[in-house]
Amino acid sequence: MINEFDTIAAIATAVSNAGIGIIRISGDDAMRILGEVFEPYNKKKEVSSLESHHVYYGNIKDGDLVVDECIVVIMKGPHSYTREDVVEIDCHGGVSVVYRVLNLVIRAGARPAQPGEFTKRAFLNGRIDLSQAEAVMDLIESRNELARRNSVAQLKGGLSDQIKNIREEVLYQVAYIESALDDPEHISLEGYGQTLYPKAEEWALKTKKMIDTFEDGRYIAEGIRTCIVGKPNAGKSSFLNALLGEERAIVTEIAGTTRDTLEESVTIDGITLNIIDTAGIRDTKDTVERIGVEKARREMENADIILFVADTSSPLTKEDYDILEQIRDKKKMFLLNKSDLSAGFGESDAPDTQCADLKVNEEDKNNSETVAGEIRAYAGEDEPVIAISAKYHQGMDTFIAELKKMMFHGRIDANQEMYITNARHKNALQEAYAGFQCVKESIENGMPEDFFTIDLMNAYEKLGLITGEAVEEDLVNEIFSRFCTGK
Ligand code: GDP
Repeated sequence: MINEFDTIAAIATAVSNAGIGIIRISGDDAMRILGEVFEPYNKKKEVSSLESHHVYYGNIKDGDLVVDECIVVIMKGPHSYTREDVVEIDCHGGVSVVYRVLNLVIRAGARPAQPGEFTKRAFLNGRIDLSQAEAVMDLIESRNELARRNSVAQLKGGLSDQIKNIREEVLYQVAYIESALDDPEHISLEGYGQTLYPKAEEWALKTKKMIDTFEDGRYIAEGIRTCIVGKPNAGKSSFLNALLGEERAIVTEIAGTTRDTLEESVTIDGITLNIIDTAGIRDTKDTVERIGVEKARREMENADIILFVADTSSPLTKEDYDILEQIRDKKKMFLLNKSDLSAGFGESDAPDTQCADLKVNEEDKNNSETVAGEIRAYAGEDEPVIAISAKYHQGMDTFIAELKKMMFHGRIDANQEMYITNARHKNALQEAYAGFQCVKESIENGMPEDFFTIDLMNAYEKLGLITGEAVEEDLVNEIFSRFCTGK
C-alpha cells in the first residue's frame, strides 16, 4: 500500500569511506527513535525537547557504549523534505559506522526505507509533484552542467507550472461547455468553436514546443551516442585518447588489435559524449575480430552521430569507401586525421612546439590534399569536415564547436529554456498534443460541442500523468523503484 506511513530509515550518503555518512529517518516516530540512540552533548536536554531546524552535537549510543560522535539535524514536519518529522544523523563516514548506526535506528523501531521512499513520501504528501520527484533523480544522476541546470529547473517546477497552466485553462473550457450543455437557456454555445479554436491551437503549440526539446534533452541528459569509425590505423583510438585527455584506449600500429568496441564517456564543454571506438571495420576471417566488427556495425546503426576518421597520410582505399557507403544515411562528421604530417593546418592553428619539428614530406602533402578533396566532395552540405591531428591534439576545439553546432543547431549555449528529458513526459505530451489536434479538427468539421469535451478531457488527463495527478499506483511505485535508497 502506498499510503503506509510508518517510520523509515536509510543511509542517505554513498556507502564508502568518507568524511561523513548520513542516516536519515522520516515518520511520526523519528523523534522517539532518536531519543533511544542519541545522547545530546548537553545531557540536561531531553531529546523530545530538541527544536526543529536546529543542529545538535552528541553521541550515538548502544546502551552505555558510545558508537560514534555525531551531529543531528532535526526537521519537524511539515517543514521537511517528506513533510513528516525528519531526523538526519551525521556520523563519521566509515562503512561499519553508518551500518551500525542504521541498525540501532532499525532496532529502535524504524523500517528500512525502500528505494526512493523519502521522495515518494514528499510526492504523496503533496510537497512536490511527480515530475519534480523525477527531477530529483535526474539531478542526482546528472552527468554534466547542462543536465544539472535542466534538472534544477524542473525541480523548481519549471515543467509542472507549464503543465498546470494548460490543464487549468483546459478544465475551465470543459466546465464552461458542460455548464452550457446543462443549462442551454442561460449559457449559449453559439459560435463557441471560434472561441475555443485559437485556445486549442495555443495549447497544441505549447505542447509541441515542449515535445520538440526532447531530442536535445536526451542528448543533454544521457549523452550523445557517438561512434568513431574508420579503417584500421586511421587514428580512431588516438582520437578517442585525445578526447579523453588520457591514454586509456590501446593505441597501436598493428592493424586489427582493437578487437571489440570500447565505450567511454567524456564530458567536454558541458556536453557528454558516450563514445564507441569500434574495431576497424573491415572484412576479416579472424573469429574474435569478426564479432567485434559485427558489433561495431550494430553500434553504428544506433549512434546519434558518426565520426569518420580518415587517414590523410595515404590515399583513400576500398575500406574507406565501404565504410562511407555504410554511413551514407547517418548524421556524421569527417575528421581528416594526421594533418600534422602534411602540415595541413592553417597559419593560425599551426602545430605547437611539440610537433613543430616534424618534417613535411611532399608525398604526405599530396595525399592529404587528395584525401581532403575526396572527402569534401563526398560530405553533405551540413556535414563538417575538420582537419585534426589526433596524435598532437590539434583541431579538437574546432571539432567540439562543430559538434555542438551540429547536434544542438547552435541553440544550446545561449538559451536557458527547459528541455524534456524523460520519455514518459514526452509520450504524455504527444498524447495531449494529439487530443488538442482532435479538438481543432472537430471544430473545423462543425461537430457538436460535447465532442470537444471528450478530447479536451483526454488531453487534460494525459498532461496529468506528468505531474502525477492522474497516475496509477503501479506507475508511481515503478518510478520510485528506480531511485536510490536513502533518497
Ligand atoms: P586506429 O586503428 O584507427 O585506432 O588507429 P590508432 O589510433 O591506433 O593509430 C594508428 C597509428 O597512427 C598509430 O601509430 C598512431 O600513433 C598514428 N596516428 C594516429 N593519429 C595520428 C596523427 O594525428 N598524426 C600522426 N602523425 N600519427 C597518428
